[in-house]
Amino acid sequence: MEDIFSYADELGPAKIIHVYEPSVNLKAVLVVDNVARGPSIGGIRMAEDVSTGECFRLARAMTFKNAAAGLPHGGGKIVVYGDPKMDKDQKQKILRALASSLRNEEDYIFAPDMGTDEECMAWIRDEVGRVVGLPREVGGIPLDEIGATGWGLSHATDVALKFCDFDIQGARVVIQGFGAVGKNTALFLRDKGAVLVAAADSRGGVYNADGLDIDALVELKDQGRSVTDYTGGQALDSDAIIDIACDIWVPAARPDVIHADNVGRLNARLVVEGANIPITHSAEKTLHERGILCIPDFIANAGGVICAAMEYKGSGKTAVFQAIEEKLRRNTQMVLDRMKNEGILPRLAAVELATERVQKAMSFRRFSIFSSAPGFV
Ligand code: NAD
Repeated sequence: MEDIFSYADELGPAKIIHVYEPSVNLKAVLVVDNVARGPSIGGIRMAEDVSTGECFRLARAMTFKNAAAGLPHGGGKIVVYGDPKMDKDQKQKILRALASSLRNEEDYIFAPDMGTDEECMAWIRDEVGRVVGLPREVGGIPLDEIGATGWGLSHATDVALKFCDFDIQGARVVIQGFGAVGKNTALFLRDKGAVLVAAADSRGGVYNADGLDIDALVELKDQGRSVTDYTGGQALDSDAIIDIACDIWVPAARPDVIHADNVGRLNARLVVEGANIPITHSAEKTLHERGILCIPDFIANAGGVICAAMEYKGSGKTAVFQAIEEKLRRNTQMVLDRMKNEGILPRLAAVELATERVQKAMSFRRFSIFSSAPGFV
């Protein structure tokens, strides 16, 4: 039996809650990491292979991401065990039960992540109300549809290029995971002059050195098909996306896709982390030693949560895009300046920056990582 206190350190987690309801086959874990800055926001991930450990690491990433983005929110996360493509009625039952069971956990605000979407958030709203990432019809800003995270990634990339020796014009981009984050990143980077040469989803990949037609790929995905159905390129195994030589490599799928055993295969000059925890810390160190600049996940992919936090406060799309651009540009610059000045890894620079902001908030509290004030959340 795993010792859940093995995750505990000076920042959290404040709570790990196991949620179980056999009548609807609900098995889930909520990790509320640190709520010194405010109620936690972090998405609900549904997948068959999730774990408490993954949930904790994702919750911690949200603590850092929300602090780095200057949001009045702490970090939390939920993992739900199950196939996200299950029958929709079954999925609705599971998520309604989850929401209902956690209705009093006010230090967590529900949000979407892999395997859950705006419709899922609408069901949750119907049960608890404390949710972001809603459909437009009920006051949401559809962050995946507008490409909030991809917009932020494109600005992080732009700033990172000041620390690289190549230009965005004609830069060859490879994207692993052509979902909400991946496809919007491809579109926004194309607007800046980059060329998508390879893309992969869970079924495989496609490559064309002269560039892929991003609109055609997006259309295939919107039809529920795969990038492997694209006919204008060479087919790849999904793992082979790691070997494609490029200037900018964007992981936008699962955690830990680059690790000690395959990091040597990565042939890029800049890595911008769209997914959460896509590269192990040791692999990031190896990349740094090889002169490959790597923009950490919680700095680069904060666009989605900035959008979500602003939705919670009732903002509109234009204000959201502007805030993401400003925050992402400023934070990427701060992290990379600190990296350069202190001679440290970009992740360490980012963790230092975020930790300082969390610790400052903790210093205001009677209990360090949460507040007991009525109405605080
Ligand atoms: P999504 O479900 O829309 O897309 C994920 C894509 O990855 C799909 O196309 C899927 O086929 C593909 N994929 C899965 N396994 C793969 C594999 N082994 N190889 C290649 N492709 C694979 O999810 P999303 O919302 O785009 O999120 C992607 C990642 O970005 C996740 O790690 C998520 O936590 C992170 N993230 C998302 C947001 C957001 O705004 N949606 C914000 C921050 C971080």
